[in-house]
Amino acid sequence: MGSFNVAKFGGTSVANFEAMSRCAAIIESNPNTKLVVSSACSGVTNLLVELANGVQDQTHRSEILTKLAEIHNAVLDQLEDSTQAAAEVYTILDTVTSLAEAASIQASRKLTDHLVACGELMSTHLLTQLMRERGIAATRFDIRDVLRTDSNFGKAEPELDSIRQLAEEKLIPLCQESVVITQGFIGSDAEGNTTTLGRGGSDYSAALIAEAVEASGLEIWTDVPGIYTTDPRIAPKASPIPEISFSEASEMANFGAKILHPSTLVPALRHDIPVFVGSSKEPEKGGTWIRHQVESSPLFRALALRCNQTMVTLRSAKMFHAYGFLARVFEILAKHKISVDLITTSEISVSLTLDQTDTSGGAPQLPEAARIELEELCSVDVEHNLCLVALIGNNMSESKGYAKQVFGTLEDFNLRMICYGASPHNLCFLVHESVSKQAIQKLHTELFEG
Ligand code: ASP
Ligand code: MG
Repeated sequence: MGSFNVAKFGGTSVANFEAMSRCAAIIESNPNTKLVVSSACSGVTNLLVELANGVQDQTHRSEILTKLAEIHNAVLDQLEDSTQAAAEVYTILDTVTSLAEAASIQASRKLTDHLVACGELMSTHLLTQLMRERGIAATRFDIRDVLRTDSNFGKAEPELDSIRQLAEEKLIPLCQESVVITQGFIGSDAEGNTTTLGRGGSDYSAALIAEAVEASGLEIWTDVPGIYTTDPRIAPKASPIPEISFSEASEMANFGAKILHPSTLVPALRHDIPVFVGSSKEPEKGGTWIRHQVESSPLFRALALRCNQTMVTLRSAKMFHAYGFLARVFEILAKHKISVDLITTSEISVSLTLDQTDTSGGAPQLPEAARIELEELCSVDVEHNLCLVALIGNNMSESKGYAKQVFGTLEDFNLRMICYGASPHNLCFLVHESVSKQAIQKLHTELFEG
């Protein structure tokens, strides 16, 4: 049906006129790209979030509004004919002004989504005009007409059947005629209220849209030339990975490699759409292809590091040879909506880490009410300042001898909560924050630089 390519550009890729021009060149270079999903210009969403949280001080509110105007004016100034785009952007900025005032009186999640969506609504006007001035027939499309979600403002869930139907009706025909430029991150509920998929959600949007139009490929353009063996800021010899499987890439996204929004690969996997990740600043450097079938499946593929881990250890002699103990523990955790990430057990104790459920990036906390209930059952120990190191690869549960290599390399480190064997694609453990980078560096040297 669709069989065209979808390209998504992140905030840094559309940060200013030069950056947008590079995106346009990338779009032009692939005649099969018919649909473009864009983030807000870099920094804009953060400013909008600040306004949405309610800025009472009027001077400060004006400062933020001025900054927003400046970012967009800088692009408008460089367009040949900015009349129409400027009118559209100024109308949206007027909306931002009045919504910011409303939020300063009473903030709400619904209002927040309405406000933060304005970033993507503005950037797409600019990108569309810039493309037209380069001689490309480009049409701007409001994705809220297609990307139907529930009404969970701030972290809305997509409604796949409606999205597919609406895409077929409204989006696919447009893509036959011109290059369509649309917004990531935003959607609308059945009542027509604007919703968002959560911070960093435009990758996920792009994947959902690619799925709905049955795209032949999805390109995610960001500011790093693909997925690396580990974060090059930690291990300078980290190298780009040309090709990686969906399973490995999902493990990486889940374990904190901050390249893709963790949900991005779910729709791509469902419809077997190959995903490319590259840098719009340096497209000539290539990038990483994520596919179902890959040519090589090395034992070691990458290392990921996720800090701010909270480890909870529960101990009770009553656990010895008893049944139902873990069931009770998890009943309490479920009751308090606590999501568990890793888990290891011994005969009389169980250690677990708490999932990062909010986007603040801080360490998750064990709620006091949950602690009190758990303490009726067992002793409860909470430890912070831990980082999760994940080694991602293939057939790890069936390979001999490599654990010796991994743990031998880290013999001077105190490793906690080793999780090994549950997934053929990873081995992970916790280390203290103060030595976490060193652990990554040592492992990278030993396993990837040989
Ligand atoms: N603009 C949104 C954000 O900054 C969505 C995105 O860029 O993915 O979170
Ligand atoms: Mg972004």
